[in-house]
Parts: sequence; C-alpha cells; structure tokens
Amino acid sequence: MVERIARACRKAERPSDAVDLVAVSKTYDAEAIEPVIAAGQRRFGENRVQEAQAKWPDLRTRHRDIELRLIGPLQSNKAADAVALFDVVESVDREKIARELAKEMKKQDRRLRLYVQVNTGAEDQKAGVAPGETAAFVKRCRDEHGLEIEGLMCIPPLDENAGPHFALLRKLAREAGVEKLSMGMSGDFEQAIAFGATSVRVGSAIFGARQ
Ligand SMILES: *Cc1c(COP(=O)(O)O)cnc(C)c1O
Repeated sequence: MVERIARACRKAERPSDAVDLVAVSKTYDAEAIEPVIAAGQRRFGENRVQEAQAKWPDLRTRHRDIELRLIGPLQSNKAADAVALFDVVESVDREKIARELAKEMKKQDRRLRLYVQVNTGAEDQKAGVAPGETAAFVKRCRDEHGLEIEGLMCIPPLDENAGPHFALLRKLAREAGVEKLSMGMSGDFEQAIAFGATSVRVGSAIFGARQ
C-alpha cells in the first residue's frame, strides 16, 4: 500500500511523502489490526465512536504513537467521547457538532485536528455540508467557535466517476483557505492523489473485504 501511494505520488509529480495513509479499520478487531501496526502503520480511521471505544483504548496502551481519526458521522451526544478518544475528526458537518466539539475540547483541554466533510454529490442520504456553503461554514467554525479547520473531506457518490468530486473538493479548500484534502478510498485513492489528496482513507485494500 505504501509503495502504491508513493508510486501514485511520483506519477502525479508530487513528493513521495506528500500523502498520508489512513488505514480504515472499521469492522476489524484488534487481532486484525495488530499486524498492520506491527508493519509500521500508525494512522487509523474508524467510522463509529462506540466501535472505536471498544477496541482502541487497549491497543493504544500498547502503541502510544497511534493517531486515530473519526471518519464517520458524529452525533452531538457522542462529542465528549469522540474528543476523549480521537486525535482528528474528519466529519465536522454542522453547526451543532462544531459547537459541541469546541465545548468539549475546552472542557477536556484537548486540541483535536478537524476537517469539514463536504457532500460533493449533494446526496440526500449522505452527511456533509453543501459545496456552496463550505467556505461560510469553515469561517463560522473559526470565527464563532474558535475552531481551526485543517482540511476538507469527501466521499464521492458510489456510482459516479470520482474525479470531478475530487477536483471540486480541491477548489472548495482553496476558497475556504484550508490546506488538507482527505479523499480517496481503496477503489480510487490513486486518482485522488492525482487530484491533490493529502491523505487517503483505505480500508478493504489493506484489511480485506468487509462482511
Ligand atoms: C469505510 C470507509 C472508507 C474505506 O473504504 P474502503 O473502500 O474499504 O477503502 C473510507 N472512508 C470512509 C468515510 C469510510 O467509511
């Protein structure tokens, strides 16, 4: 995986360390995760707070340098748990979540790195702010909630070419004044790297197909 990412970077004429790999371990238990940690991977993504709480505290006492990212939707009643467990939340997608995260980070004296999720395909069932509201939302996160937004994240529609969605996310990041782009999964991370991804979220290509 690391080699495929480095190759995609070279092809895109980007430095070979320009892209971080987030290994998406959702649905996989500690036994499946340990060998990936042993191989050197330190950055992991989970999409559910409760599932992550069940397996990561233990893993983290054995491996102190893990970076854990929440990449799935966050409910406001889980904000305290999320702030306590995760280092990065990539799915900030509404005012209420921004407010709760700000409150909890202050209370727990923890500083998480944050991404705003953008619903680039304007899909009803998918989380994320509308493309046209992204810059304003990032600004409100900063000005009203004192949150630093590090980047944008998107999950393109399954049945479409992801390229235009990656291009849109890059354009929106530039407009919103944020640097990082979390885009690309097992099926399209090389394409995402060509479009400027700074991190890719890869699950099944590392761990195998999920049940
Ligand atoms: C599951 C998931 C991934 C990884 O998907 P794969 O196709 O298994 O690589 C990436 N991002 C999000 C938000 C996910 O929920």
